[in-house]
Amino acid sequence: MPAPVYRQRDPQSTPYYQCIEDHFETFEQVYEDRFERRYGFYRPYVHQVICRYLDCGILHNGFARVRCKECGHEYLLAFSCKRRHFCPSCHQKRVVEFGEWLCHEVVKAIPHRHAVLSIPKILRRYFLYDRKLLSGLSRCGWEALKLYFKKVVKGQNIVPGAVIAIQTFGDFLGFNPHLHILISDGCFHENGMFSVAPAIDTKALEQIFRHMILKMLLTKGKINRDVITLLDKWRHTGFNVFLGSRILPWQKKSMENLARYIIRASFSQERMTYHRESGQVEYRSKASSRPRSGKGKKSKIFDALEWIAAMCSHVPNKGEQMVRYYGHYSNVSRGRRKKAHTDDQIPYILEPELSPKELRKNWARLIQKIYEVDPLTCPKCRGSMRVIAFIEDEDVIKKILRHLGLWVVKRKPLPRANAPPFIPDAYPVPSVDDYTRDPQYPTDSYF
Ligand SMILES: [Zn+2]
Ligand SMILES: [Zn+2]
Repeated sequence: MPAPVYRQRDPQSTPYYQCIEDHFETFEQVYEDRFERRYGFYRPYVHQVICRYLDCGILHNGFARVRCKECGHEYLLAFSCKRRHFCPSCHQKRVVEFGEWLCHEVVKAIPHRHAVLSIPKILRRYFLYDRKLLSGLSRCGWEALKLYFKKVVKGQNIVPGAVIAIQTFGDFLGFNPHLHILISDGCFHENGMFSVAPAIDTKALEQIFRHMILKMLLTKGKINRDVITLLDKWRHTGFNVFLGSRILPWQKKSMENLARYIIRASFSQERMTYHRESGQVEYRSKASSRPRSGKGKKSKIFDALEWIAAMCSHVPNKGEQMVRYYGHYSNVSRGRRKKAHTDDQIPYILEPELSPKELRKNWARLIQKIYEVDPLTCPKCRGSMRVIAFIEDEDVIKKILRHLGLWVVKRKPLPRANAPPFIPDAYPVPSVDDYTRDPQYPTDSYF
């Protein structure tokens, strides 16, 4: 019998989960009336992401059995949703992997800088209603940097390298599209040399970036000349360039932290408090965790539905690339990503349209669902472990969890992204004892 030792995350006990679970249904019912004007149409993909999140890491929705080859130790591992931004656990796993990958596979041992490029409030909503513009934002950032660096560094056929992450959230989850950029602090030459750039003139960079953005919005018909005339009159343009200090090649930890920072989740669970009785969410500002930060608002109270609406506006569309690679870093990463399928996007799991039997043969798909499984090291003997079965049938899940004393009756049924696979009556539900066997293809032999 599998021992109930698995990595117990218990997502249902978090205030975040409880808030979503309590209010998600109402949220969808009132969206059109209350939020459509401000946030645009409700995207069907967002519905899917939230449903998946509510199922993520919960044994009741299916799990894998993992067994140690050496000592036979077993545990159950719940399926995870792998969705970005909305699921804190899956997003965090992606953040860690991205940091490692970027440092080892993409960036070269040369100095880098962190740059943040942002745009005025008046222009932000265009990006909310038309998310395709976000790739244009990224492109403008790159073009501005390339133009600037090629001007200040001497040489023919030179190019910087950049990794640009699009973030859409501000301090209190407002929609604030901006770019977090990891840029080579200079240019690469064709012969493999690298020239470090002189001190960067952020004002000049800001001017170029501003020009690129306005030109793009004008070309796409989002703004007209009047808007530009208006912006010209402002003393502060509302465009901003922040430039961090130089990160040297041997400062590997700083680099990895920066990589993680640029794709961080849109919110932090630590900064939220859910007041269940009043249906409100209190969200503390980033600055509130820092000592002696006197400036700005410390926290904001949201109605739970408002909170969910704000959260949803930061969920990228299916397959939407939020990180892009340019210049010297583009070819390298493109090649590697193609080979390893490790683009910003982890491959989307196609929903099953197969019979239950075929479904159970689809081992690869299931492996993806237990995203958290690596490294498979036995907590008892440090031996290597492997997945011996995937349990997806509701009756079987219930049977096993009951046996282990892990079956908890849910408060209410959760909305599902799709119905569980249909199991015809003719297939006998195996007894719990069947699970102690270790057949070659365990899932097939059960049915
Ligand atoms: Zn998840
Ligand atoms: Zn072991």
